[in-house]
Amino acid sequence: MSVATERREWTNWSRSVRFTPGEIVAPSTEEEVVDIVRRARRDGRRVRPVGRGHSSTPLMATDDVLVETHNLSGVVRADREACVATLRGGTGLEDIGPLLHEHGLALENFGDVAFQAIAGAIGTGTHGTGGELGNFSRNLLGFRVVTGTGDVVEVGADDVEELRAGRVALGALGIMTELTLRVVPAFRLRRLEWCVHLEDCMARYDELVHRNRNFDFYWHPRRDEAQIRILNEPGTEPEDLVAELPPERDEIRKDGTDWSFKIQPQQRGILFDEMEHALPYERFREAFAETRERVKAEHRKDVAWRVLCRTVAPDDGFLSPFLGRNSTTIAHLQNATLDWKRYFADMEPRMRAYGGRPHLGKKHTAAAADLRAMGLEVDRFDAVRERFDPDGVFLNDHLRELLGLEDA
Ligand SMILES: Cc1cc2nc3c(=O)[nH]c(=O)nc-3n(C[C@H](O)[C@H](O)[C@H](O)COP(=O)(O)OP(=O)(O)OC[C@H]3O[C@@H](n4cnc5c(N)ncnc54)[C@H](O)[C@@H]3O)c2cc1C
Repeated sequence: MSVATERREWTNWSRSVRFTPGEIVAPSTEEEVVDIVRRARRDGRRVRPVGRGHSSTPLMATDDVLVETHNLSGVVRADREACVATLRGGTGLEDIGPLLHEHGLALENFGDVAFQAIAGAIGTGTHGTGGELGNFSRNLLGFRVVTGTGDVVEVGADDVEELRAGRVALGALGIMTELTLRVVPAFRLRRLEWCVHLEDCMARYDELVHRNRNFDFYWHPRRDEAQIRILNEPGTEPEDLVAELPPERDEIRKDGTDWSFKIQPQQRGILFDEMEHALPYERFREAFAETRERVKAEHRKDVAWRVLCRTVAPDDGFLSPFLGRNSTTIAHLQNATLDWKRYFADMEPRMRAYGGRPHLGKKHTAAAADLRAMGLEVDRFDAVRERFDPDGVFLNDHLRELLGLEDA
């Protein structure tokens, strides 16, 4: 069995990560994945899996074999009674919505877009927003993975260490071919979006978090406005709260109702780069106040984008930014054609000072010692990784730095 290979430069979505792998392969079956890994291991070469390339750190960078996973797509099984679904690792989030809908099921939550693959989203702790809602990987119940030895290992609910490592695994445990997730019955949501003055949003911040299924806001620095976005099951909206936060300038800009998978993710035209930190919920206000002050004082003339704030429930992933605590995230965004380095370099230490932990799929400079100091379980993660990949077939320089490993 052989899979066609090609050699070309690979770039991520924002085009800030570029490299030319020795070969790019796109297997369609688990057997082909096994064959690729065994062959690479035999030849002393490294392997990196990639989903849709929406991360902007060099997680997938390799001189050797890059495994694209888009052909490993589809629903393996869905159980409406149990609210459990098994998906192939390369299935795009945009396909999962309609596929699960055929079974009367839905993902519990979405992030801002649906362009990622499910294993890619789970691989970096991708999240949406919601005081009670965790990141995608919190719903991971089990997975099948082709390990660094080319064996297929099945991880289930009883394999506690492996499952906790598998929640934000950064593609370091191997190539996940199937993921089993807790899902929910299909549901509809009403989306309301409007702008208020930032101070009004902050004054009602806790209520906005706790009285809506999904609430987040964009801060527009130039107008000092908060663009509030709330989503609720129809009939459960906090009408009084909405009425007490009248729009700053115009009428409500968006008001629509649809199935969750149709109305939650948005489209993105302009390329941007992003750095995002998960802060302890209690420290968000101080951290955001500093962001606001710094952006106004130092960056407003250069920064073309807004700042996004979301809330995420705790989970137990060893490398998850939400490990063990309620969090609010602050995302600093910059148009990909403009300089993001000066802005992010100024804000990153400030976010860390408030207990911020980085989104590992977005720009950051954290290494193993930083992640440990932030309370992440780097060593427990690495103990599982070493069992799954004793020869380091799935390591690259970036992962070595994150995990504190010497060059192999
Ligand atoms: C426009 C845009 C919007 C975004 N919105 C959000 C958002 O709302 N919330 C949020 O939290 N993040 C968001 N992100 C970040 C994004 O969700 C993450 O970077 C995510 O990991 C990208 O998924 P992907 O499929 O592109 O994975 P990739 O970037 O391709 O890979 C991510 C990691 O997963 C690993 N991986 C991929 N497939 C497999 C597999 N089959 N088995 C094992 N490992 C695998 C890779 O090796 C890598 O380490 C956004 C990014 C962009 C560009």
